[in-house]
Amino acid sequence: MRLKHLLIIAFVVVSAAPMFLGLQYLNSQFGQYTRQLFSENLSALSLIAKQRLLGAVDRIRDTTSLVASRTQLRHDMAEWNRTHDAAYAEDIARIILDARQGLTLLKEISVYDRQSNLVASTSSAPAPWRLEPDQVFKESIYLTQDGEDVIATSVAPLVFDHKVSGYIRLAFKTTFITELVQQRTGLGETGEWLFAVRHESGDALFAVPLKYDQKAAFRRRVAMDRLDVPITQAMLGNEIVMSFAPDYLERPVLASTRYLSELDWGLVAKINEEEVAALVNRNTKLIYIAELSIIVLAIFAGVGLSFFIAKPIEKLRAHTAKVTRGELAKPPEGGGWREVRELTEHFSVMIATLKEFNETLQSKIDERTHDLGEANRKLTELATRDPLTGLYNRRHLEVCLDHEIGRARRYGSALAIVIMDIDHFKAVNDAHGHGVGDLVLQRISEFLKSTLRKSDIVARIGGEEFCWILPETPEDAAVAFLDRVRIGISEIAFEADAVAFNVTCSFGLAELSDASPDADKLLKNADLALYEAKRAGRNRIVAFTQSPREV
Ligand code: GH3
Ligand code: MG
Ligand code: MG
Repeated sequence: MRLKHLLIIAFVVVSAAPMFLGLQYLNSQFGQYTRQLFSENLSALSLIAKQRLLGAVDRIRDTTSLVASRTQLRHDMAEWNRTHDAAYAEDIARIILDARQGLTLLKEISVYDRQSNLVASTSSAPAPWRLEPDQVFKESIYLTQDGEDVIATSVAPLVFDHKVSGYIRLAFKTTFITELVQQRTGLGETGEWLFAVRHESGDALFAVPLKYDQKAAFRRRVAMDRLDVPITQAMLGNEIVMSFAPDYLERPVLASTRYLSELDWGLVAKINEEEVAALVNRNTKLIYIAELSIIVLAIFAGVGLSFFIAKPIEKLRAHTAKVTRGELAKPPEGGGWREVRELTEHFSVMIATLKEFNETLQSKIDERTHDLGEANRKLTELATRDPLTGLYNRRHLEVCLDHEIGRARRYGSALAIVIMDIDHFKAVNDAHGHGVGDLVLQRISEFLKSTLRKSDIVARIGGEEFCWILPETPEDAAVAFLDRVRIGISEIAFEADAVAFNVTCSFGLAELSDASPDADKLLKNADLALYEAKRAGRNRIVAFTQSPREV
């Protein structure tokens, strides 16, 4: 893996992971918190609603007892019971009409005798009513439906002189209930109030229209054995918050249940779980977006950082690869962080030093190579030359001779060699000393060098014996040439110990032929010819043909 990729991953993990985990935690906390908030909100709303209902019921009760406590009414009712005089009934009608004044929510006041017979009513068509024995003494309030309206009926006994003389029944419009259930503040989009009374079967009977069932009032019931349903729990007297409880449409809801025990009324504030989840999800979505943004930001930051850190290193690495291949160019300007810039600078200096070192090394190598060549040349020279005279030595002559013989054979050209020996040289040494002998050898060598062709190879093959090759030289031309050499040497004037003297030389010549087919034979035969020249009196040239003969 490359450094830059590693840096990006490391940065994303190190920077984004804690934030990611934090947000995840926040999200789960927020989910729980939101649910709790909803629950508490519902609970508080339902409690307030319960208090408001109780307050409204108390006002109905107060109004009822206020009307029922009117002395004239109680008196008239007692008289009516005793006399059945119509005047009392008329008076009762007048009193209740009067009582009705100013009570806007009051729909009707009716007065009954002890047998539930109507005595007087403010309504021309009073609602039918029959005394249920237990109702009276609880001074209970009943809810009934009258057309579109829900009517709260309150009954109170008319007591005169410690005796019940009849009953007064007040019917109120229950706007306090309808207003309550229409007020849905705090219940979101899907929330609503459920309000139920006890059906005679014991089931819960909805007493107001439902949001999703406008005709539910006093029609729709919920069986008491449906314990999972909030309104049942309310009617059982359990004031709780229920999650994912089925509502009347069997949809899961979050609900708070309330029970008004004296009235046996149930109240439920509820909201669809879907809506709660949507709110939680909306936040979850926001958190996911935040998480995604963080990761994207972290990646960008990571790329930036890796670019800042890794790019200069990458550049430097690429350059080192070049240097490895021998390209000693200056590295590119090292951008990025200080350490890399310094590294690049040092690297640059290193390359410059390396370059300089290389160049110095190259010039030293050239110099050494030259010296070595020179030394080699000298060594070769030493190996092939005779130190005293500077002429070639025997070994070199033999090498050259082989070469020349090969050439002569290839081209079919003539080849001759000559061996020259100084006559009575021992006598020179004896007469003037070895040093003078050396000088003589050197002087004769100089003469040979200047007389022979530059390309001719002349060698000192023995103490005072010389030999050279005569390429492409026929015998007569060779003889003529050697004779000039012989005369030339004999005319060199030497002087030692104030004595002038001359030396002569003898020459043995051999030509490449069947009798002298190789180097060995040539040398041998030339030597034989030389021997013959010595024997014949010296200072002469003898050529070897079939046998040596003087020429
Ligand atoms: P000839 O060849 O005519 O028969 O007589 P010579 O005296 O030259 O015969 P020989 O070959 O017997 O003697 C050769 C002498 O050359 C012997 C030796 O003292 C001398 N000599 C050989 N090499 C050198 C040398 O390098 N320097 C000097 N000064 N003398 C040398
Ligand atoms: Mg000799
Ligand atoms: Mg000699």
